[in-house]
Amino acid sequence: MTETIQIGEILIQVTRKAIKNVHLSVHPPDGRVTLVAPTATRLDVARAYAISRLGWIREQQEKLRNQARETPRQFIERESHFIWGRRHLMTIKYAEAKPFVALDHKRITLTVRPGANAEKRAEIIHEWHKSLLHEVVPSIIQKWQPKLKVHVSSYFLQRMKTKWGSCNHRDCHIRLNTELVKKPKDLLEYVIVHEMVHLLEPTHSERFIAILQKHYPTWREARAELNELPLSAEEWRE
Ligand SMILES: [Zn+2]
Repeated sequence: MTETIQIGEILIQVTRKAIKNVHLSVHPPDGRVTLVAPTATRLDVARAYAISRLGWIREQQEKLRNQARETPRQFIERESHFIWGRRHLMTIKYAEAKPFVALDHKRITLTVRPGANAEKRAEIIHEWHKSLLHEVVPSIIQKWQPKLKVHVSSYFLQRMKTKWGSCNHRDCHIRLNTELVKKPKDLLEYVIVHEMVHLLEPTHSERFIAILQKHYPTWREARAELNELPLSAEEWRE
C-alpha cells in the first residue's frame, strides 16, 4: 500500500516493505520523491524523517532542474565532455577510415567518416567509454578480491538510468554504469568496492556498512560526490 505525505509543495510517496533501513529517493527526470520504510514505521515517523531531510530533497530537485536545462550532448566541435573527472573539449575530424577517438590533456579528438550523424558519433564515444573502463576495472577488481575475500566471476558495463552499479549475488557478477568514466577514478573504485561488498552482504544492512567502513572508510564522501549528479539516492538510518 502506498500513502502520500505532503510537506509544503513537496509530495512524498511512502511505501512500507520488510526492510531495515529508510530509503529516500528523488527521481529523475521530474524530481518525484519516494520513501520506502520498514513495515512497522508509523506515517508520522516517516513524515518527521522526511522533514529532517527536506533541505536535501530540495537540493536534489534543484539539481535535476538544472540538469534538465542542460542541452543533450551532440558530439560537436568545442562541446565539453568529462573523462575521469576532467573536462575535455571535443574536436571532430573526418576521414574515410574506421572511426577512432584520441584523448589528450585538453581534447577528445573524434575521427569519423564524413556524414556520421550525432547518433553514430554518440555510439562511437560510448564504445570508447567502455574501452577506457575495461582498461581499469579488472585491476581494481583484482586488487579488492583478496582484501574482501570475494570472487567476481565477471563484470558488465552498460548504460544504467538509475544506478551506478549493481550486483548479482548468486552469480557473483557486478554491473557498472558506463557514466562512471566521467567521474574521478576513485569514485569508480568506490562503486566497485560497494558492489563487491554486496557479494558478502546483499542488502545495505549494518553488516554491509561495517564491512564498507572497515575497508573503505571514505565511502560517505565518495557517495556524496557521486550523488552530486544524482542518478538515485539512498539514505541509511544512522
Ligand atoms: Zn548497494
